[in-house]
Amino acid sequence: MKIYVTRKIPEAGISLLKDKGYEIDVSPHDRVLEKSELISALKQKPYEAVLCLLTDKIDAEVFDAVPTAKIFANYAVGFNNIDIEEAKKRGIVITNTPDVLTDSVAEHTFALVMAIAHRIVEADQFVRDGKYVGWAPELLLGADIKGKTLGILGAGRIGSQVAFQGKNGFGMKIAYYDIKPNSEIEKEFGATFYPSVEGLLAVADFVSLHVPLLDSTRHLINADRLRKMKKTAYLINTSRGPVVDEKALFEALRDGVIAGAALDVFEEEPKVYPGLEKLQNVILTPHIASATFETRSKMSEMAAENIITFFEGQEPPNVV
Ligand code: NAD
Repeated sequence: MKIYVTRKIPEAGISLLKDKGYEIDVSPHDRVLEKSELISALKQKPYEAVLCLLTDKIDAEVFDAVPTAKIFANYAVGFNNIDIEEAKKRGIVITNTPDVLTDSVAEHTFALVMAIAHRIVEADQFVRDGKYVGWAPELLLGADIKGKTLGILGAGRIGSQVAFQGKNGFGMKIAYYDIKPNSEIEKEFGATFYPSVEGLLAVADFVSLHVPLLDSTRHLINADRLRKMKKTAYLINTSRGPVVDEKALFEALRDGVIAGAALDVFEEEPKVYPGLEKLQNVILTPHIASATFETRSKMSEMAAENIITFFEGQEPPNVV
């Protein structure tokens, strides 16, 4: 069996595939392949599987380049980079890596909540710039987290873990909006369901986004909805960039419509909306919410296991 891996990933999964005696070709470039490069790489051999990343756009042209491949194992839980409808039409199996990254992403979300509320990045820069001349009663005042309302948009795996941390770690009140109510977080963390996005935005002190990127969630947070948030509230996005209208967010942060934001994902990665990087009330991290040694290794294993199960004639555990 021949497998193409579109970029170097942690060895754990590659070893599992090698142990099975499969032939593995990993892209020699440690960068995102241009579409044309990906297509010519896939045409080299009759690969039976492709292990791809969220930065690879997988569509009809790519499927055409490698008609022998009947499984594309995405190294991510999100799969908005893949044309799922086209894959279904062709009978190609698509898998993802859910659950193993939930804790890391939730931790990163809370790292951002704490950092934006306590102005950690700004404060660090302040000291490095030599501006710290002594303790002062009103130096870099931030916001408390305890007792505040955490508004979760998308209460699936990651959203639920963020609710757990907010409730048990920080004594926050949990509010959420989802297209389907989540009775478990209501029972476990006393979460309150809001039947509209606007309703949730009006009560939340921290709004944290955990929806997948779909047509229905593109620009879920836009200029109008930013105005529905409290002036003192913060927006945290560790989901996907296009869920937020980044231009509208830039204007809202610049004009004091909301207090601040912390973003791990951007509308046109790796670009950041011009001017955003100059604002003090925003924290920017480069799509690293799942980037821990442990999690990236588990994601590698999970992607490999999806391929192995498929080759062994069974239904892979994480078909999307
Ligand atoms: P999940 O499928 O368990 O949860 C998504 C939730 O969103 C579900 O409860 C679903 O009902 C809800 N939802 C769907 N459409 C909605 C809508 N229009 N309005 C409100 N809610 C809606 O997924 P998950 O494992 O929790 O992951 C969530 C997303 O996080 C992924 O799709 C991915 O894009 C993103 N993610 C980002 C990183 C990162 O590195 N920053 C890492 C992992 C996942």
